[in-house]
Amino acid sequence: MPELPEIQALAEGLDRELTGVRVESAVAWQAATLKTSRPLSEVAGATITGVRRRGKVIIVDLGPRHLAIHLMSAGRLGLRETGPARPGRQAGFSLELGERRLLLTELGRKRRATAHLLDDAELAEHAPVARLGPEPLGLDADGWRTALSAPPGQLHSVLRRGRRVAGIGRCYASEIMWAARLAPFRRTDGLSPEEWGRLAEAADTVLSRALERARERITTALPTREERLTAVHQHYGDPCLRCGADLHRVSFSEWELVYCARCQTDGKVYADRRMSRLLR
Ligand SMILES: [Zn+2]
Repeated sequence: MPELPEIQALAEGLDRELTGVRVESAVAWQAATLKTSRPLSEVAGATITGVRRRGKVIIVDLGPRHLAIHLMSAGRLGLRETGPARPGRQAGFSLELGERRLLLTELGRKRRATAHLLDDAELAEHAPVARLGPEPLGLDADGWRTALSAPPGQLHSVLRRGRRVAGIGRCYASEIMWAARLAPFRRTDGLSPEEWGRLAEAADTVLSRALERARERITTALPTREERLTAVHQHYGDPCLRCGADLHRVSFSEWELVYCARCQTDGKVYADRRMSRLLR
């Protein structure tokens, strides 16, 4: 699931490519993707005035309208050359931009990614954006303490709640706690000022490094299925092309075997030797 660094890098790339571009037409290919009653066709003829991120939401600004996109775990947003009229069964919506289209697709059958078409007032009230906690980059020790200590909870779990602090999920919660040398299950009302300082510094370092790497790695071009040459091999941790679940692996000393537990083993996850050796 993409978190702050990946979503920020994608929003920056789309902002560079799309600001000033006119939307010729817009289509919701899946009724379930568009969560608001406004028809997407309202943005036909509008010019994209910017693309930005807040929390884990990507916001495409179209003058007085805003398209707030939640990718969730298997949603993919990017640019593709305008091809066949219907961009595949996985398509959620598309903004047609002439030679290119901005397309939301979803790996797997479940439809979890969503798009909300909102005006200024509705965006200001849109809960996933309006009720977010502070952005973590640059937040100082006092800011972290204020955001996480009342009401108290377990650090790893509170860190992942967008209402407490924006944009962090399982991956970066673990990375930040490791960098700060803090136990995941520490209670947030028991941290010393020195520990809040460590958390603030670790979060800044971890997230800004991850953002730098994401800026180099993440492109705005949406890969087609054909471009992923193998479905599972060398795709450990990526979503299954069929069902969207994260792929598992069994590691051997020189190679690894990758499989989908949901599609292939009735959900059974095989012991991974690399993991069990560490646990022994
Ligand atoms: Zn699968």
